[in-house]
Order: sequence, then C-alpha cells, then structure tokens
Amino acid sequence: MGKIIDGKAIASAWQEKLKEQFAYFAITVGRKPKLAVIMVGEDPASAIYVRNKIRACEAVGVTSEAYKLADSVEQSYLEDLVKKLNNDRAVDGILVQLPLPPAFNAKKIITLIDPKKDVDGFSAKNLGSLLLDDKKGLYSCTPLGIIQLILSTGTDLTGKHAVVVGRSNEVGKPVALMLLQHNATVTICHSKTKDLASFTREADVLVVAVGQKKLITADMVKEGAIVIDVGINRDENGKLCGDVDFEAVLPKASFITPVPGGVGPMTIAMLMANTLKAAKGNV
Ligand code: NDP
Repeated sequence: MGKIIDGKAIASAWQEKLKEQFAYFAITVGRKPKLAVIMVGEDPASAIYVRNKIRACEAVGVTSEAYKLADSVEQSYLEDLVKKLNNDRAVDGILVQLPLPPAFNAKKIITLIDPKKDVDGFSAKNLGSLLLDDKKGLYSCTPLGIIQLILSTGTDLTGKHAVVVGRSNEVGKPVALMLLQHNATVTICHSKTKDLASFTREADVLVVAVGQKKLITADMVKEGAIVIDVGINRDENGKLCGDVDFEAVLPKASFITPVPGGVGPMTIAMLMANTLKAAKGNV
C-alpha cells in the first residue's frame, strides 16, 4: 500500500520556516515584503486561489495588495497597472491570476511584469533562467512544489525515469526541466502522445498535469512508482479530484499525492518562498 504525501503538512512546515525568514527581513530591512495580486473577472475557482494566496501572505507576514478588476476593464488599464506596480519600489512581487478572461492578451501582460517581481515565474526571462540553470531566476511555483514533494519522500532522483504528462509552460515544461536538474531521465507526454500508458508504465516518478479526471488508471502505473497528481477537476458529485484514479492507484504506488491536499498547498508555499526571494532582491 502506498503512502500518501501530505502536501498540507509539508506546506505548513515550509510556511513556518518562511515566517521566521520574513520576520528577519522585516526587522533588518524595516518593512514587510509586499505582494500585489491582480484578478480580473469573477471566475469562482480563481477567486478561491486568490483568497488562499492572500491568507498565506497574512499567515507568514507579507503585506498583500489585492486588485480585483471587473472584466469590463480595458487591456490597456491592466497594462498600466502592471507598469505602475513595476515602478513601485514598495512592491516586491506581482502576480496576475490566470486565466484572464478571453478578451485579454495574457501573454502580453505576463511579458510586461518585471522579471524580478514575477513571483509566478512565468516570464520568458525566468523560464530562460530555469533552462540555463541560473539559480538567480524566479522559478514557477507549482513545479517547485512538486520537486519538494518528491524530495520529501527521501528519494534521490538521480537516474530515475521521470515521466511528465502535460507540457504547459506553467507546469509540464518547467517541472520537466527541474527533474532534469535533479538528474532524472525525463520523458514528456502530451495530447498527441501515442499509447500514453506505454510511457507512464515505465515511470519511477509520474507527474500528471493535464486536467482530466481519472486519466491515469492503476494499469498505467508501475508498481512502486511515486505519483504526483497536479490536476484539479470536479468528479460526478462535484467534489474536487485530480487526474489520477487515486483509490485504484494508491495500493500500487510507493507514494502518491492526494487532491486536494497535495500539490495545491505546496504551490502557495513556493509562492511565499518566491516572494521572499524577490523581496531580498529589491532592497
Ligand atoms: P494546460 O491545459 O495548460 O495543459 C494541459 C496539458 O495536458 C497539455 O500539455 C495537453 O497537451 C496535455 N493533455 C491534454 N489531454 C491529454 C491526454 N489525453 N493525454 C496526455 N496529455 C494530455 O494545463 P496546466 O498545465 O495549466 O494544468 C494542468 C492541470 O493542473 C489542470 O487541472 C490545472 O487546474 C492544474 N493545476 C494545478 C495547480 C495546483 O496548484 N494544484 C497549479 C496549476 C495547474 P497539448 O499540449 O498537446 O495540448
């Protein structure tokens, strides 16, 4: 029977450590770090994510500034807001909650964020830093959290075969690069992959970031694999679930993350870690 990786507990331990570091920052620099969070529109899932991020700021000692904009605002208004926050010395990190309503050019907005304040790590500069192993960059939060969850099992990734399902710029690609940094042999699968199961069955570490409930069934998982489920979906009863058939895969995996309570809390903990890194670079 596999062990459940308690993302909530691991994230909470991270936040406790970060809280001390934020307190030290506040004493030595004379102010708390500040994170600006921008949300456009009324998407209920985004509203929950934003609320959780703001709560995390309060818990660790970061000042948060929330900008909740109606989806009727112009792209230019959003661009001007990002530029203003870029130039505001008191703001250390800027986060634009995605997805933006379809009328907005999200790529252009992300490009506008000063890479030094891009705590989500989505900008070309920060993704480039990851590619080039430049540790000064701000790396994407979810992939950072995934790596910490894997390391929490005591596993050395060197020489392990890691299979990532999903190739988004926010999760799949950056986590694949991080797994490579940890000396895993990495395979990336996506919607055009033929015979997905033939790849997932070879995985010592399986990271699934697709957004389709029960995509990964027990027969697709190798005995003893570490399974990290990034997906956030709703099941038939409206309950949150991941991309992995958790109940069926649990007996086969050595370790597995639950949804909720796995990757989600770690993403927020890593956002706080990135905010600290950005703040240290802004003194
Ligand atoms: P995207 O929609 O951007 O990417 C999904 C990826 O899955 C794409 O690369 C797509 O391939 C691939 N894919 C789609 N269908 C299949 C299939 N049948 N077989 C194999 N691959 C497939 O999603 P994200 O990466 O942004 O997010 C993935 C999931 O993770 C979502 O459920 C999201 O809500 C969740 N998430 C959770 C976070 C957390 O903190 N817990 C944070 C971020 C995301 P292709 O490129 O070919 O289209």
